[in-house]
Amino acid sequence: MAMQNQSHIYATFSPPALTFERGEGVRLYDDKGEDYVDLTAGIAVNALGHAHPHLVAALKDQAEKIWHLSNLFRIPDQERLADRLCAATFAERVFFTNSGAEAIECAIKTARRYHWSKGNPQRINILTFEGAFHGRTLATIAAGGQAKYLEGFGPKSPGFVQLPFDDEAALLAAIDGETAALLIEPIQGEGGVRPVPAAFLRRLRELCDEHGLLLIYDEIQTGVGRTGKFFAYEWSGAAPDIMAVAKGLGGGFPVGACLATEDAASGMTLGVHGTTFGGNPLAMAVGNAVLDVVLEDGFLAHVREMSKVLRQHLAELVDNYPDLVESVRGEGLLQGLKAKVPNTEIVAAMRNERVLAITAGDNVVRFAPPLVITAEELREARSRMDAAFAALAAAAKTKEA
Ligand SMILES: *Cc1c(COP(=O)(O)O)cnc(C)c1O
Repeated sequence: MAMQNQSHIYATFSPPALTFERGEGVRLYDDKGEDYVDLTAGIAVNALGHAHPHLVAALKDQAEKIWHLSNLFRIPDQERLADRLCAATFAERVFFTNSGAEAIECAIKTARRYHWSKGNPQRINILTFEGAFHGRTLATIAAGGQAKYLEGFGPKSPGFVQLPFDDEAALLAAIDGETAALLIEPIQGEGGVRPVPAAFLRRLRELCDEHGLLLIYDEIQTGVGRTGKFFAYEWSGAAPDIMAVAKGLGGGFPVGACLATEDAASGMTLGVHGTTFGGNPLAMAVGNAVLDVVLEDGFLAHVREMSKVLRQHLAELVDNYPDLVESVRGEGLLQGLKAKVPNTEIVAAMRNERVLAITAGDNVVRFAPPLVITAEELREARSRMDAAFAALAAAAKTKEA
């Protein structure tokens, strides 16, 4: 905390007193040379772990050619990455951004502009769901609808209606002539690693088709292999019209993308949207390199395999420490432990044992390790977690006595 106060950085973050100097795979090394097992992957960003040789080579290679052109000129790697994303998903059009929030902003603009261009300018409302997180810009905090992120920032941007989670009756009642789209994360990440039932996603698809609405997925956290499919929506079979992607797509290089069908993107004509940095050659080189690995035969099968191993370890922690944690949730390598003590205490105890996890909403401890993690590395993480949980349980006993 003291360090934080002396720093000139906005006081919006409070990192622990730890400084990492380098990383390799699932490991981070601090300035004392101590190794940590990283089950955060920078919030599901470092999908291939730290310093993956293929990504390092792609970035170095591009750095010696062209860093930046803006979208004044064609960027061949941008077209290539868009082609590959479209070939592997529902999409036919892509707009590249620098972040997740910008990808959501593009998704919202795409949906509104779609209705506007079809002669329905009154259709501006985006229906979202309780517990959602869509970013921190003014529009995306309105979309997320969480009071703690909206407070003090002036009037909430209009055109967002928040509905209860997984409640079809409320959804049916909310759809009207001003509805433009439904926006949902297939698994709520920040909201507490809460999967949306596949049947509900399929129902959303049907309702969108019935009412002429656009279905927007926020796969910023769940995409690019995180759940063991390229995108999480594949588990449900209900494809969206528009999808926001970021985090894992750049493996640690800032990049996002808004994907859409040709029809959904039909209102996004010449000059109506833009970006200086989005789709920059460095980001595109790395994004293509990430896809080289994630789309390789066997990679997603590895993720599915490891997700079973992680789930087993977490389930055993629930069995062994019922006073600390009560259940496991999530899919693939995005899993959470619902905690009975403050999740911050569990994350801190784990950090003391040099294994890193993230808090999430609903008092959940979130695990989003690099997708390249092995069973051996998960076993090591587990033994460090055992030590952390044992220390917490012992501390609780002392307190009782
Ligand atoms: C991280 C995240 C965002 C915001 O992405 P930024 O890059 O931080 O703007 C939006 N939606 C979801 C589901 C996220 O996990």
